[in-house]
Amino acid sequence: MNKLFLLFLTMTLISSCQNSENTNENKNATIAKFSIVIHGGAGGIERSNFTEAQETAYKQQLEISLNAGYKILEDGGSAINAVQAAIVILEDSPLFNAGKGAVFNSEGLQEMDASIMNGYTLNTGAVAGINHVKNPILAANKVLDSSKHVLLSGKGAEILVKKYGIQMVPSSYFYTDKRFQQLQKILGKNKISKDHSALLQVQPLIDDHKYGTVGAVAYDKSGSIAAGTSTGGMTNKKYGRIGDSPIIGAGTYANNTTCGISSTGTGEYFIRTVAAHEVSSILKYTKSSPKKALQEVIFNQIAPLGGKGGMILIDKNASVFWDFNTKGMFRGYKKSTGETVIELFEKTAYPKNKIIK
Ligand code: ASP
Repeated sequence: MNKLFLLFLTMTLISSCQNSENTNENKNATIAKFSIVIHGGAGGIERSNFTEAQETAYKQQLEISLNAGYKILEDGGSAINAVQAAIVILEDSPLFNAGKGAVFNSEGLQEMDASIMNGYTLNTGAVAGINHVKNPILAANKVLDSSKHVLLSGKGAEILVKKYGIQMVPSSYFYTDKRFQQLQKILGKNKISKDHSALLQVQPLIDDHKYGTVGAVAYDKSGSIAAGTSTGGMTNKKYGRIGDSPIIGAGTYANNTTCGISSTGTGEYFIRTVAAHEVSSILKYTKSSPKKALQEVIFNQIAPLGGKGGMILIDKNASVFWDFNTKGMFRGYKKSTGETVIELFEKTAYPKNKIIK
C-alpha cells in the first residue's frame, strides 16, 4: 500500500514538473513575439501626387527605419530603444517633417516637438519648440531619463540635452528648399483668404502635402510597449505654437496594459480630444477592439470637430493596427513572424465615404 502510494506520488511529481516546463516553454514562446509599427505622417497622400521614384524613395526610407527598430527588438533590445532608432532614421531624412525635413513656421523658422513614452514604467519625456538638436527624439528621451520633468521647451530643453551630450547643430542644418517653398506657397494663399476663421486656418495646412510627422510604436520580447513621435509641426504655424506631438496622451501614449500609440494630423484636434489616451481608455474600460477604438476616436471624435490625421497602435498582444481619415498615411510594420507591410496611399478596403477630402 505504502509502495503504491509512493509510486503515485513520484508519478504526480514528474508529471507536474513536465507540465510546468511546458508552461514555461509556452510562456517564453508567447513573450518572445515582438513588433514595430511606424508612420511618416498623414494627409493628401495620393498616388497621383507621386512619381514612381518618389514612391520608391518613401518606401525605402520607411523600410530602413522599420529594419533599424526591428533589429533592436530581434536582438532582445527594449521597445524604447527600437522606437528611438526608427525615429532617428526618419528625422535624418529630408523626406519627412521631422528633424532634417521640418516645416517652417509663419516667421520662417523651424521649431520642432517630440515625445517618447515607456509603457512599462509610464515614464515620459518631451521637448517642444527646439531648433538646435539634430534628433529631437533623442532630446525627448534625455528628458525622460535624465530629468524629473516630462516636458521642456525651447532654450531650457536645449541647455539640458546639450549637457548630456546630445548632438547639437546650427538651425541652418534643418533648412530644405522644399519646405521653404511650401511656406512661400501657403503665405501667398493666406494673403487671399483673409476671412478664414482661426480654426479653418489650421485646416489647409495639412491638405497641401505638409505631412511628414514621424512616429513609432514597438513591442519588445519582454512584453513592453513604447511609443514616440517627432515633428516640425505644421507649415505656417504661429511662432511658439506647440502641437500634439509632444503632448502625452494626445500625440503619444504607451501603457503595457492597453496599447502604445503615435498620432499624426492637425494637432489641435488631437489635443482637444486627448486622442491617444482616449483610445487607450476605450481599450481599458470597454470590450472594444483596437480597430473599433481607433475608428471611434478618429471618425466620431476628431473628424466631427474638423480634424484630420491618423494613428498607429500596438496592443498588449503585440498586434498592430492603424487608421486615418485622410487620403493616405506613410506607414509600415514588421512583426516577429517576418510579416512586413509598407503602404502610402488610401486603404483599399476602407469605405470611401469616410475619407475626408
Ligand atoms: N500633429 C502634428 C502637429 O500638429 C502635425 C502632423 O502630424 O502632421 O504638430
